[in-house]
Amino acid sequence: MSMPIYLDYGATTPLDPAVAAAMEPWGVDGFGNPHSAHMWGYKAKAAVERAREQVAGLINAPAETIAFTSGATESNNWALKGLLTAPGQTRRRIVTLATEHSSVLETAQYLAGIGAQLTIVPVREHGLVDLGDLERALGEDVALVSVMAVNNEIGVVQDLAGIGRRAHAVGAVFHVDAAQGFGKLPLDVDVMGIDLMSVTAHKIYGPKGVGALYRRPFTVITPLLHGGGQEDGRSGTLPTALIAGLGEAARIAGERMAADLAHALQLRERLLAGLSVLHRINGDLDRRWPGNLNLSFPGLVMPLIQQLPGLAISSGSACASVTGRASHVLTALGLPEPTAKASLRLGFGRFTTATDIDTAVTLINAAVQRQLEELA
Ligand SMILES: *Cc1c(COP(=O)(O)O)cnc(C)c1O
Repeated sequence: MSMPIYLDYGATTPLDPAVAAAMEPWGVDGFGNPHSAHMWGYKAKAAVERAREQVAGLINAPAETIAFTSGATESNNWALKGLLTAPGQTRRRIVTLATEHSSVLETAQYLAGIGAQLTIVPVREHGLVDLGDLERALGEDVALVSVMAVNNEIGVVQDLAGIGRRAHAVGAVFHVDAAQGFGKLPLDVDVMGIDLMSVTAHKIYGPKGVGALYRRPFTVITPLLHGGGQEDGRSGTLPTALIAGLGEAARIAGERMAADLAHALQLRERLLAGLSVLHRINGDLDRRWPGNLNLSFPGLVMPLIQQLPGLAISSGSACASVTGRASHVLTALGLPEPTAKASLRLGFGRFTTATDIDTAVTLINAAVQRQLEELA
């Protein structure tokens, strides 16, 4: 049986062979604990610090503002819980969007259960938050505004600089879940007024299980993991190989950002040009990471995924595939649940070819046509 075509880059991306090569020295030979005070430790520590600079460089931050974590889920948990429970924190409210990742929404719900207040701002039909709506939700009691850079289901890019200005106008801290934006689009923590930023390696051709949290100097957050005190409040021995992989993935992403963007745009144009069935694009098409297309098909309310065994895709986030619930992102855009469940999230990128796209288009056109005929 041949493998389906991988078009699920929103769930995770393939490991770039150059990243795998950068990780290799830190397996068998470079096994040292980066915190050890001898040659094994020093060498591992040097790799970790190089990676810290590579991650920081991509978002215009000083290296010492980067703390390594196990990924964006942990970074999001740390940012929200750490800020709301920080010593001297007098503000109790979190403001976030209806379309955020579950690791932000569920963490915010958890905090709301233990005394925080939560305001969830809706998005407009195109998936973007209206800055006026956001402004009306803000006040001097807001500790944190948390908004993602690029949506993982519909690819839309929020106006981070505009949101950052409004958060700071009421003295709130601005957190960005940049799991899908880091390394794909230019992000500058100073220009965008970002105080906390979560990133992960595996959405940019790096390994799974490693990420980072950027913290603007003087943004106080309590530790998430207490212990040896590594990473300034994120205790635990650092995984050198994974961190070296994150660093190399960040370095390559910076170098190839324009090329990756152009490639994704070309593939998207090809895909849209090939679709012969009536479709609706969920989320704004222009303010969007071009490696994402989220489609629904008018009149079609049956889950399509099962009809497309030749494609490795999803209908929502990878997490929603587990629960079988309709995507909270698509319902936030106003899609009825059956339509949301019948939608397709296509993600493509660096290693996707024009042939992959052509095959996908043929399969999707045929599957939709077949379903519509069955319903007629
Ligand atoms: C993938 C993803 C996460 C979770 O990242 P992990 O590193 O897998 O924990 C969080 N937010 C967004 C927007 C994502 O796409």
